[in-house]
Amino acid sequence: MKEISIIGSTGSIGVNTLRVVEAHPKKLRVAALAARRNAELLFRQAKKFRPHLVCLFEEGQAIWLEKRLRPFGIQVTTGEAGLLAASTVTRAEKIVFAMAGSLGLRPILAALKAGKTVAVANKEPLVMAGELLIREAEQSGGELIPIDSEHSGLWQCLEGKAKDTIKKLILTSSGGPFFGRKVDLRKVTPRQALHHPRWKMGPKITIDSATLMNKGLEVIEATNLFQVSVDQIEVVIHPEAVVHALIEFVDGSQLAQLGITDMRLPIQYALSYPSRFVNSIPSLNLTAVREFHFFKPDFKRFPCLGLGYEAKRCGGTMPAVLNAANEVAVQKFLAGSVRFSEIPKIVERAMTLHHPIQNPTLNQILETDAWAREEAEVND
Ligand code: MG
Repeated sequence: MKEISIIGSTGSIGVNTLRVVEAHPKKLRVAALAARRNAELLFRQAKKFRPHLVCLFEEGQAIWLEKRLRPFGIQVTTGEAGLLAASTVTRAEKIVFAMAGSLGLRPILAALKAGKTVAVANKEPLVMAGELLIREAEQSGGELIPIDSEHSGLWQCLEGKAKDTIKKLILTSSGGPFFGRKVDLRKVTPRQALHHPRWKMGPKITIDSATLMNKGLEVIEATNLFQVSVDQIEVVIHPEAVVHALIEFVDGSQLAQLGITDMRLPIQYALSYPSRFVNSIPSLNLTAVREFHFFKPDFKRFPCLGLGYEAKRCGGTMPAVLNAANEVAVQKFLAGSVRFSEIPKIVERAMTLHHPIQNPTLNQILETDAWAREEAEVND
């Protein structure tokens, strides 16, 4: 029996993680749950899975939640201290981080410091502070493992392979809702952009998929997780989203990871690793898919992908600027205050104004993050 904690349990990844736990009651147990503000769902999850502790990040309904969970003997915490407590609960061996945005950074560092295995689904912390997190994991004996489907694919392909046999890593992208369609990107509405053809996900990542910023962030995420240079990472558009990732060896041979588009697969692998659990998730039926397509990404129409590469080439604090400016730009687009086509422009402007600090400390990263948010906020 493994105990796990889920930071971000009421979002799409959190809910799927609990479905995996539910499917394996003899193997997995929940030690702690944390959510940003959905008190009602957090209450129902806590009542069902009986963690020792829950955290409701926003204090608003914490008293209501505490009253309702008291009869079950479940401790309720709130704010950043609560997130840190949920991320470092002694009994939990693995912590799943699935809270959108950069809020997860300090809790992930704390979990690594406590020697936990940290399964990261939200890529932002790995983008803004990847090198710092890897260093922390090396020092503390903690471990960082991916849940992001492409990175889970790479991880599964890379397992047991000597580093000097690897030439490049290939990430696939479904292309998002506007791939191959004659859509004027200046006129795209949030509703259109929120309609992803393959994956059902939260709003931030769905918009990122439509701009291809998601893939830009994933390029940086991969360089950090697998310690390779940005020039070793290639992106190909693959609308069927069946092949999640490939690796190419120095001799030109390639190895791919395939599976249906169901996040329970990479989540379950992160939880069962180094073993695998038998499950009832349907298998991929290759003869039903029949055709695979692969295309070169259009860097001109979707400049966010190129900005991802550029941020990593600049290094240091530049990925944090990319990430923060993008978060603000996406929020503004969803709120209807900027156009879809302005998202890359807001990000690029913040990057142009920034002088990256190499090998930044946590404080320098957080200061840069705050600066870039402000910059993106005033830039209309
Ligand atoms: Mg992904």
